Amino acid sequence: MPQAILTLNAGSSSIKFALHEMEPGTRPRRLSHGQIEDIGNAPHFVVRDADGATLTEQRWPSGSALDHAALLTPLLDWITGHLGVESLVAVGHRIVHGGNAYYRPVRLDPALVVELARLSPLAPLHQPHNLAAVRAITHLRPGLPQVACFDTAFHHGMAPTVTRLALPRRFTDEGVRRYGFHGLSYEYLAGRLREQAPTLASGRVIAAHLGNGASLCAMHDGRSVDTTMGFTALDGLVMGTRCGNLDPGALLYLQQVHGLSVAAVEHMLYHDSGLLGVSGISNDMRTLLASSDVHAQEAIDLFVFRIAREVGALTSSLGGVDGLVFSAGIGERAAPIRAAVCARLAWLGITCDDDANAANAALISTPDSRVQVRVIATDEESMIATHTINVLYPTSRATP
Ligand code: ADP
Repeated sequence: MPQAILTLNAGSSSIKFALHEMEPGTRPRRLSHGQIEDIGNAPHFVVRDADGATLTEQRWPSGSALDHAALLTPLLDWITGHLGVESLVAVGHRIVHGGNAYYRPVRLDPALVVELARLSPLAPLHQPHNLAAVRAITHLRPGLPQVACFDTAFHHGMAPTVTRLALPRRFTDEGVRRYGFHGLSYEYLAGRLREQAPTLASGRVIAAHLGNGASLCAMHDGRSVDTTMGFTALDGLVMGTRCGNLDPGALLYLQQVHGLSVAAVEHMLYHDSGLLGVSGISNDMRTLLASSDVHAQEAIDLFVFRIAREVGALTSSLGGVDGLVFSAGIGERAAPIRAAVCARLAWLGITCDDDANAANAALISTPDSRVQVRVIATDEESMIATHTINVLYPTSRATP
């Protein structure tokens, strides 16, 4: 039986998970993955193998009051039945916020969970759910080691000028600063780029994580120099349902003129804005690309415009750019979006190879393009599994 690491990425209404086999000295091998979706309504639990074939599936009726903890029980039971009771050796969690103090993966204990819960106001829609999953595993499998992997950690080295917000200093001192997110994804991409294009990886690269959440990261020699998300995961690009950067005066207007409460504004910024808010149709890029509605096109145009504009800003942070990497659902699969971004960035010397782009090839720029453009599939779960092994079993060190 393999020794397996379970990775958990717990959100408000879903838990994504993966099982990786621990293989000393190499990258952990993915055994299976899946998700529990629609928590709080009609939960749906599915596990797939490494090729995507369904291994098990379970649905609960709508109105089901099962919470995260109750829904982790069938997952742990399935793992025990599938792998045997001895084989699950640890759980690694994506924890969205490490604050100022935590910028390396760390073994979780009850005191640390209490400390990390104090950061919940900095990530109200993610941190409480991340920690609920930690508490649930502690309850269900008390002896099982758990490791926290922080989404902010990769950006820890950003310079003070980059992280500072122009607010009165007392707020900076209490932690109101830019942190950046999607760090596990960027760390994974930096590792793959070093394998696939080592010369480029040591240069100036802008990586674009374009999923439901979306951000850019400016990396120099594989380290984060700047990024588009800031104090929270609302900042930066237009996302599926999040607004991205916004004049704070707009928030004052909404509160003063429309009388919106803090809770109503929060809900609007996280859930009703972005591609969904602008199109009025969907947060799903596939739906928008297939639509002939003018509002769908306007949402796409804004999404692309803001990516290109932020690439310009990050190029300044890096003092130039040698490579652009597209990743996550839209970055890996939406060729028309990549083409439109590249077209807007022609001034940087970017030339897209249309055939390679349409084929989602690894290299989609032409040989004479001044900036190399690549597509790399991200795998945050693999990064979490790697960190978990390296924290708990340093002698079995996995390579990132
Ligand atoms: P999450 O941030 O939830 O992990 P993903 O990385 O899976 O999200 O990205 C989801 C986004 O990717 C959605 O907008 C979806 O429409 C888009 N997407 C997935 N496949 C395609 C595709 N073939 N063409 C265009 N967009 C796609």
